[in-house]
Amino acid sequence: MVIDLVDLHRALDNDEMVPHFQPLVELRTGKLSGFEVLARWNHPINGPFLPENLIALAEQNGLIGILSQQVFGKAFSAVGLLPGKLGLSINLSPVQLHYGTLSRQIQDLAAGFDFPLERLTVEITESALLKDLQRSQKIAGELKEMGCRLSLDDFGTGYSSLAHLQALPFDELKIDRSFVGQMTKRRESRKIVAAIVGLGHSLGLSTVAEGIETDEQSDVLLWLGSELGQGWHFGRPAPFEAICAIAARSPWPTAHGLLSPGNDWAVSSLEAFPTQRLAQLQAIYDGAPVGLCFLDCALRYVSLNRRLAEMNGASVSSHLGKTVQEMVPELYQNVEPYLLRAVKGEAISGVEFPRPKLESGEDGWILCSYQPAFDEADEVIGISISVMDVTEHRQAKEELRENEFVERNLGEMNTQSPWMTDAEGRNLAMSSQWVRTRPAGQATTRDLGWLEALHLDDLKPTIKRMKKALRTGEPIDIQYRVQSLDGEWRWMRSRGTPRFGAQGEITRWYGSVEDIQEQKSAETELRETKAKMRVLLKAVPVVLISDGINRQVVTIEALADDLGDGSCGLLKRVKSKELRGSAAIGD
Ligand code: C2E
Ligand code: MG
Ligand code: MG
Repeated sequence: MVIDLVDLHRALDNDEMVPHFQPLVELRTGKLSGFEVLARWNHPINGPFLPENLIALAEQNGLIGILSQQVFGKAFSAVGLLPGKLGLSINLSPVQLHYGTLSRQIQDLAAGFDFPLERLTVEITESALLKDLQRSQKIAGELKEMGCRLSLDDFGTGYSSLAHLQALPFDELKIDRSFVGQMTKRRESRKIVAAIVGLGHSLGLSTVAEGIETDEQSDVLLWLGSELGQGWHFGRPAPFEAICAIAARSPWPTAHGLLSPGNDWAVSSLEAFPTQRLAQLQAIYDGAPVGLCFLDCALRYVSLNRRLAEMNGASVSSHLGKTVQEMVPELYQNVEPYLLRAVKGEAISGVEFPRPKLESGEDGWILCSYQPAFDEADEVIGISISVMDVTEHRQAKEELRENEFVERNLGEMNTQSPWMTDAEGRNLAMSSQWVRTRPAGQATTRDLGWLEALHLDDLKPTIKRMKKALRTGEPIDIQYRVQSLDGEWRWMRSRGTPRFGAQGEITRWYGSVEDIQEQKSAETELRETKAKMRVLLKAVPVVLISDGINRQVVTIEALADDLGDGSCGLLKRVKSKELRGSAAIGD
């Protein structure tokens, strides 16, 4: 609906101009920061609305001052009632900027309602400035002196001129909603918004994005670095009664959990100025224990940290502007396919490559991750790479694998306990079966600690034989006594063979240790039996054995021979021997 001059006069006479309030929200925390005051005609029948031509009609007929007074006065008194220190943004018409008394009028009005000017932001459109820059400068200076903040409204439309930004002491840029509305659909709009935010930051100004209607727009603006947002997504302009509830409600949900209020780390890191952020990133970059670099799409080093430069064996500065192929030709063939995929936008992590040999001639392995970096229009602008030397890690893994092999394949099912030592005979792994049954436990079985578990009498011979085996590479076969958990000394037999490296050198010994106590006891028993028999045979020179039909006689010498084979063998052989001739004792 269009308002005519008669209606306007009547409306102003009846004090029908009222403020509506639209929330201004901190994008990273979702917190309400204040409201923009927008004029509405509180029509007695049609309710509050903004006639298309209201502001223009008031301006043309010298009534904008009265209109502003009615609207701002009610806004100051209303917001002054709200708890906290919410800000208010008011709009000034271009013509108002030419009233010499404007700043004093605003001051008086705010003072009348006890509204502190530090909480007031004055929005000015660029067209207002163009007409008389000098006068605008004077008024802007006065407003600033009074403590008000200055905001350049609808930035990017109309008469945008960077000269205005330079000429007037602005605190804030308001990105026009025409860009914000198109931002998620048109790349150009997104680039313009990014450029305005960047311009604001580089001039030390905060940015407010107008006309945010969707979650997605809010997310993109947060990502681009805009501090504040305003739009239907957060709330339409509303009368005072409605905004009381808004002021009392909890923050709007933010784009990421990471950025939620109360997460001090995220908040403080995001509050840093761009230069601080840069310095912070550089410090992280240089101090990182992994190699880091950023390549442009032509695979040239744009930046890298010292760690990576060291890994590549050249200085940081000698990398810059050079391609990966130029700097690490021996690696390039392996990494090229991943670099090309990353340039196309694919993130790839955890790829292992053999690394270039170190100066010392040592080879090893590196683990690389490739993360494409996108601009605000989602185009890849380079690749961020991290490189970690995993040589030691791989070695440790290899050892673990070997240990597991010992454990799984030999340890549990076998009566023998497998072991593994290095070339010097230091124990690297022992089956858990051994560890469980020896009081010495895992700690002393490691390294050369297993020797401590040996019987003192067996220690010297064991060391001597071990040394010889380690020196010559001949298989180990030794016996020694070890105390078991119940305190009993038990005989063990340990046997092992060496494994050889590429140059024929011994790299490992693999073997097993077996409890031979039963066997040893049997042998001792046998030895004792034999000894007893010898004594007996000495006392009886000839033995006659008869089955009743044949007679068999065994001489002492024959028996002595048989004793070498054990008692069973003895009896068998005795049976098979024929007696020739003479009568026997006991016949
Ligand atoms: P503005 O200062 O740029 O105000 C923002 C305009 O965008 C408001 O229109 C607001 O309702 C609208 N808007 C806010 N969020 C959204 C959204 O998400 N989507 C869309 N489509 N629109 C949104 P409104 O209230 O119609 O005001 C229009 C213009 O009139 C204002 O533009 C301002 O320049 C002027 N104006 C309003 N109140 C006053 C006043 O008290 N004094 C003066 N001098 N000018 C005023
Ligand atoms: Mg405005
Ligand atoms: Mg605007």
